[in-house]
Amino acid sequence: TISMAVIDKSAKIAVGTSTNGATYKIPGRVGDGPIVGASGYADDEVGACGATGDGDIMMRFLPCYQVVESMRLGRSPEQAAEDAIARIKRKFPLFVGALFAIDRHGVHAGACNGWTFQYAVQGHGMEDVEIYTVRPQS
Ligand code: ASP
Repeated sequence: TISMAVIDKSAKIAVGTSTNGATYKIPGRVGDGPIVGASGYADDEVGACGATGDGDIMMRFLPCYQVVESMRLGRSPEQAAEDAIARIKRKFPLFVGALFAIDRHGVHAGACNGWTFQYAVQGHGMEDVEIYTVRPQS
């Protein structure tokens, strides 16, 4: 899965997700990609979130919606990301997944479970992307 969030010059925020789906998926499976809030969610007033991982588990939690709503209530992107992953982990300790959170000011963070996750950021005036590595919470 590739999930991407963009904040434009006028502070409009968009998020998108592209995936070829889960390995060995059954024909006709609808994954988390097209479910709003599961692997992507954005609100200009708050920020955005994108996710990847075991969509069959993650879509039950709408983790990206959760992240944006947590940020709306004052959590930092890092707190919101870690909380969304922790909510899934409580029910499915072995799930594999990750997400990034970014607020409308461009503050960002990631959280993951079951693997080490990397995400890239390119801001205004940066010549190249910066890569961030996120390790699972213990
Ligand atoms: N989230 C995707 C799915 O379950 C898989 C992925 O992240 O690669 O369809």
